Formats: sequence, structure tokens, C-alpha cells
Amino acid sequence: MTARPRYFIPDWDDLVDPGYDFLTDTAHGRGWDQERYAHELLDQPPYDGILVSKVVEEKSKKRRERLRRLGVHGALRVAPAFPVIGDCGAFGYIEEKIPPYGSAEIIDYYTACGFDFGVSVDHLIPSADFPDRDLRYRITQENAQEFLTLHRKLAPPFTPVGAVQGWDADSYASLASRMAGMGYEMLALGGLVRASTETILEITSAVRKAVGNDIRLHLFGVARVPMLEDLIRLGVWSVDSASALRRAWMGSTDNYHTRDADYCAIRIPEPGRRGPMKHLEGDALRRAQGLEQMSLAKIRGYDRGAVPLGELLAVLGDYETIYNEGGKSRMTHYERTLRDMPWKHCACAICRKAGVEVAIFRGNNRNRRRGFHNTWVLFEQFRDL
Ligand SMILES: [Zn+2]
Repeated sequence: MTARPRYFIPDWDDLVDPGYDFLTDTAHGRGWDQERYAHELLDQPPYDGILVSKVVEEKSKKRRERLRRLGVHGALRVAPAFPVIGDCGAFGYIEEKIPPYGSAEIIDYYTACGFDFGVSVDHLIPSADFPDRDLRYRITQENAQEFLTLHRKLAPPFTPVGAVQGWDADSYASLASRMAGMGYEMLALGGLVRASTETILEITSAVRKAVGNDIRLHLFGVARVPMLEDLIRLGVWSVDSASALRRAWMGSTDNYHTRDADYCAIRIPEPGRRGPMKHLEGDALRRAQGLEQMSLAKIRGYDRGAVPLGELLAVLGDYETIYNEGGKSRMTHYERTLRDMPWKHCACAICRKAGVEVAIFRGNNRNRRRGFHNTWVLFEQFRDL
């Protein structure tokens, strides 16, 4: 067991406008037709496959219809051979007493949309002392049995994957062992997203011991670089996570990743549009807009070598007192980003094309591009193994 785990990205409708004009902040086109996925903008897809959760798809009627009409590969605009896993997205119904989907319905959905792998209908167990712990454990097991029985009867072309839930190493291992006994050749462990690395390895190791070496294992929501060597040792077949992507705009100071360090993106928000400056008007708005435009001009000048770092930092510092009033200053983080200029050393197609704009924290087209870059960096680390 020496192969590296395959990296899947969960689909959350992550698209950007390929023709976006950064200088004037104008969109070239909007929506699925006009916008592009990370795998369409980078030289190669920055992942081995995609995970599509039913609850996420169902958030929009348009997406649901597109998925049915074009199939999942058509809707994601990937080649028919590109691996796509379908699951229900148990996090989306964690509050419900029982899952909102039945096995027959979900098999029909995986088949109609052309998924390569389909995961049985599971129910998350939030903690060991959760009141419905045993009920959810039983539901997960019964659904796995029903799913496999129906799969044998209907023989759809996708590979059935048994979803395993639990609350400690023993409960995961015991259910995994029963599912392997049912005849599953691939199992996916859920509920690990918030667990410590130590706990994840303990659970995965117990499961591996219980099911033997021939069963493929997928870990939901877990793609942590420091863990990769251990995952190889445990023969983990695949993992998924969108956290590198999402840190680009959800992280406080770790928005732009490189192999060696994480950097803080430079906030240059749009006054009067959203956030703390949404309600600015009159002179206050004009002053903020002045600092915003000066920040953009100076950072581009700095990138070209025409503006000294001190001059840029002075403007960014003035602007920060407005948009981050009372908050913790990020100026020391900004200085580090600007000194190292990580976008100048990145070989990804996003940084090559957008340059310093990728390091600016401002709107979907910069922030999500930075997320695509982060995903690319993460995948490079997978590929190095
Ligand atoms: Zn890059």
C-alpha cells in the first residue's frame, strides 16, 4: 500500500469570470454559462476528482435541473472519465430526526446523473453522548444494507460506497467490518471533519485493521498535508476537502497558501458596497473611496517596482483604520505578504495571469481565484508523494 490518496474537491458551485477586468472591476459574464471552474482555468485539474453532495445541488433549482439534463460530468464540464463521487451530504440534514432520502430514490439519482461512485444514505453522529446516537448508527447500517441489496438487484453502473459513521474507533471499526461483510468493496468514513489528526488516524487505523487491506477507504472532509504520509501507510484510497479553497476568503490571516508558508491577503474592500463600510456616505464615503483607489494604485505600482513598500504600507494602514475600525490590525501580516510577493513565484495559471490581483482580498473574482491557487498548491503536495 504505497499509492498516495486521491484528492477530491467538494463542489460548492465555485466559479469565476474568466474575462473579469481587475482594473475597472467589471464582469465579462455571470452565471454557469459564462463563468469557469478551477479545472477549466488551470493547466490541469487541481484535483483527482469531484464530490457532489445532493443537499448542495438542491439549493438551486437551476443546478438540480442542469445536473439531470447534462449528467454530472456535463454539469461540471469534466471529461466523462473524470471520477465523480455522489453522496447525500449528511451535514445538510444533521438536525433532522431521520435522513430525508431513501435508498431507492438515491440510487435512481446517482444512476440518472451518471455518477462514478455513489455513497449510501448515512446520518451524522455529532458526539458520543448525542441522544440519538444509537438510532443514527442503526439507520446508517440499515441504509447501507438496503443500498447494497438494491444495487445488486438494479445493477446500475456506479460503484457502491458504504458510508460509515461512529463516535470512537471501536464503533467505526465495528460498523465498517459489518459493511465489508455485506460485500462493500469501498467504504467512506464520515463525521471526521472536526476531529483532531490523532483521532482521525486512530479511527482510520482501527477501521483498516477491521476490514483488511483490500477495501478502498475514503475519508470525508479530511485533506491535511501533515497527515498524508500516515494516510498512505493506512492505504487510504481517497480524501476530500474544500478547506484550502475556502481559507482564501474565510481565513483571518492565512488566505494565500504556498508550500512553505501561508500569507495574509491584502484587504482593499469596496466602500459603500458591503461589510463595515456599507453605510458610509458623504465625506466619509469619499474619503474611504479615495483611500481605496490609492491602495489599488499603490499596490499595483509596488508590484511593478515603481512604489516603495513604505509608501504602500502607509496608505494601506490609513485605509485599515476605516474598514477595520476597532479590529485587530493585519499590517504586520500585510508587510510579510508584500515583502515576499508570493504571487511572483507561483507557477499556477491563476497567478501567472492575474498576478498581484490574486493577493488582494476583494470580491469573488479575486478571492475565489486565490482559492483555486490554494487548491493547486495543495494538489501539488499530493502529487509530490
Ligand atoms: Zn498560484
